[in-house]
Amino acid sequence: MKKVYEFKEGSKQMVSVLGGKGANLSEMVNIGMPIPYGIIISTDACNEYFENDCVIPEITKDEILKNISLLEHETGKKFQSQKPLLVSVRSGAPVSMPGMMDTILNLGFNDFVAEKLNEILNNEKFVYESYARFIEMFSEIARGIDRKKFENIDKNDYKKRIKESKEIYKKECGEDFPETYKEQIFIAVKSIFDSWNNERAILYRKLHNIDEKMGTAVVIQEMVFGNFNENSGTGVLFTRNPSNGEDKIFGEFLLNAQGEDIVAGIRTPEDIERLKEKLPEVHTQLFEIAKKLELHNKDMQDIEFTIEDSKLFILQTRNGKRTAEAALKIALDFVKEGILTKEEAVLKVEPSSIAKLLNGDFNEESLKKAKFLTKGLAASSGVAVGRVVFDPKRAKIREKTILVREETSPEDLQGMALAKGIVTVKGGATSHGAVVARGMGKCCVTGCSEIKIDEIKKQMTIGDVVIKEDEFISVNGHTGEIFLGRVALKEAAFDTRLHEFISWASEVKRMNVRMNADTPEDAKQGKDFGANGIGLCRTEHMFFKEDKIWAIRDFILSDDGEEKINALKKVYELQKNDFLKIFEILDGDVANIRLLDPPVHEFLPKTKEDKEKMAQILNTTYEDIEKRIFKLKDENPMLGHRGCRLGVSFPRLYRMQGRAIIEAAWECHLKGIKVKPEIMIPFVMEAKELKYLKQEIKEEIEDLFKENNGRIDYKIGTMIEIPRACLLANEIAEVADYFSFGTNDLTQMSMGLSRDDSVKFLDEYRKKQIWEGEPFYSIDKKAVGKLVELGVKLGRGTNPDLSIGVCGEHGGDPESIEFFENLNFNYVSCSPFRVPTAILAAAHAYLKNKK
Ligand code: ADP
Ligand code: MG
Ligand code: MG
Repeated sequence: MKKVYEFKEGSKQMVSVLGGKGANLSEMVNIGMPIPYGIIISTDACNEYFENDCVIPEITKDEILKNISLLEHETGKKFQSQKPLLVSVRSGAPVSMPGMMDTILNLGFNDFVAEKLNEILNNEKFVYESYARFIEMFSEIARGIDRKKFENIDKNDYKKRIKESKEIYKKECGEDFPETYKEQIFIAVKSIFDSWNNERAILYRKLHNIDEKMGTAVVIQEMVFGNFNENSGTGVLFTRNPSNGEDKIFGEFLLNAQGEDIVAGIRTPEDIERLKEKLPEVHTQLFEIAKKLELHNKDMQDIEFTIEDSKLFILQTRNGKRTAEAALKIALDFVKEGILTKEEAVLKVEPSSIAKLLNGDFNEESLKKAKFLTKGLAASSGVAVGRVVFDPKRAKIREKTILVREETSPEDLQGMALAKGIVTVKGGATSHGAVVARGMGKCCVTGCSEIKIDEIKKQMTIGDVVIKEDEFISVNGHTGEIFLGRVALKEAAFDTRLHEFISWASEVKRMNVRMNADTPEDAKQGKDFGANGIGLCRTEHMFFKEDKIWAIRDFILSDDGEEKINALKKVYELQKNDFLKIFEILDGDVANIRLLDPPVHEFLPKTKEDKEKMAQILNTTYEDIEKRIFKLKDENPMLGHRGCRLGVSFPRLYRMQGRAIIEAAWECHLKGIKVKPEIMIPFVMEAKELKYLKQEIKEEIEDLFKENNGRIDYKIGTMIEIPRACLLANEIAEVADYFSFGTNDLTQMSMGLSRDDSVKFLDEYRKKQIWEGEPFYSIDKKAVGKLVELGVKLGRGTNPDLSIGVCGEHGGDPESIEFFENLNFNYVSCSPFRVPTAILAAAHAYLKNKK
């Protein structure tokens, strides 16, 4: 197999063999850019080296040397000759990997070369500084010798400096400094291969899911000298502004300097605009090349260049890193400029960055200066600045607050809605606080276990910092960080640009993206964001409002018989009203409405005040209310008397809900509004359970149709959220009109982890490297995903056209969305504010799949 390539043999497509840097250099040679010539030792050679016990085989060494001769021929120079060749040795993996090997410049020097060069150039300072730099870089990079060891050498006597540097080298690694170019090259190449396995590199690959087996390529390239004279220099530029995407070249340069000087920050570089005054022709040529490379690569470029005695050379180009804001602007502009199709542009923005655009971010400068307090779980993205309040009622009377709670409950809802941000001490990324905050598009950090709230003193402490009520803090829902005081904000919104971009993604995607919407307000929000209907409407959440919670409490706590039937009527009216509004807003889009699924304790009155009020409503004593609450208490509410179990014990409840849904739909139908109602039964473990309830609800609906002398289409489906239901999905599919995977509960039950409690110990698991993921955020593909896969296979085995969706938190997570796309789901569903992210993720997943 060929192991070494000349630049002219490669191309952009050969990234996996030549590495990113090498492939781009080859491509630039092919399109006639001014590139110092070179050769590339491939990733195959790197992998061969590892397989060969970290020895470069002789045959590969020969191939390298043969290509070196070709390089010498091409440049008209020869290593260590009368016309000496010097090269850089650069690493370049197929994906950009900071933290790996650095570059060695000026390789090929020895005393003879220095003398020859000095004869030719008559510039002792330049020659010996370059030589000394080579020895230092080689020592540091190829041999791991600390560069500080060279600091105390006298730099004025050139020859002495070289001699002493080599002595340090010998002392540190026990052998003479290699004098021949062959030794120098092979040591350098070997050390670059080895760097693939240094700790930093391994960690980086782990964090970014990069394949261990990829290996790195090595570029050996003729040197050009930015430190030759005052008409020389080096610099870096971006073809557009990487911070805001503005179509203006952005960069800096240093005259009389070599590559690493810019990064090292020893001298302050100048703005690229100033190059126009210093070297106008180079400036013009550079700007032309920048635009050409951008057009050729169809992306914003990050370009490294060097000028040697007024002659321009390009040393690297790659797609530039950019902020979310810049990515969006560049994607839109490229389509308008005809460089990209909409489909191509969609891939230029990361789904995970949409939340930042939507919910804002902190100003970077201000963030640098802020005092960090603590870090919890980034539960809902966005940032917020406000006064600390511990009591949700206080959020009603103060403006700009951050609600800090041990944990939140339905009673806090209004306070949460009024606060700018929410922080909880307990709870995970899917706790009540997190779910509600995401629904509201509000920034939220949960699981801040370092915070100690003292409600009596009205203050909280973090370590030894005390923060009193009304003091300002800043909360970053993107990272989970909390800062003291006011960090300045960068404003953002779902403006016309983002709207336009998401509409392109929407055209591209295959799966539908529905929303989890419990109220008419949510439905409106999600529809504006481009949702294709509702994937989950939690009827119990409709009561998470102070005025409505009493109706459902009344129902739960009332006596069986007359009292309960009356309470049910009240609930019925409230629900029907909400459904009416929702159907109107949806205007023809599908609505999947889930019947009541409360862990009952979520609704019960907790405070003395509330219990008293309840006693009054039900016309009974306080003690009686306490007794009733006690009776209803499940030992384990998550697995207690909830979901369809409640429906089976009390079918009237589900019949009432079925009627409320279809009656609302019917009334809309009469008004000429299109309706697509779906009724979903939660927590099913057995087909017969579903069959029984479906029968009950159908009866009720048939009655309704008879009363009204007309009918409309509707579906009755089920959630698949219990492992047993996945295993028996073939049986369940015989009864259900559709499936919606409830991956939150499915995760809890298949992993034996409570989503709210697992925050307490999962961190420890991560530290001990037992567990890495966030199973309630991104689906655990290995096991939970296997159950989903099985459920899909069995369900579609029974009914090939079975509609399948997901309504857990995972429906808004880009990685999970890709997983669902691959299983050919019909839709994902997520909270309204995550809809744009999910649309883009669905488009990405589809395009990736298509390739
Ligand atoms: P990195 O991957 O860290 O950017 P590079 O291989 O791009 O490392 O090298 C860093 C810098 O070294 C380049 O930006 C360039 O300024 C300088 N450099 C590398 N090769 C050469 C060369 N052949 N001639 C002149 N300068 C070079
Ligand atoms: Mg570089
Ligand atoms: Mg559930």
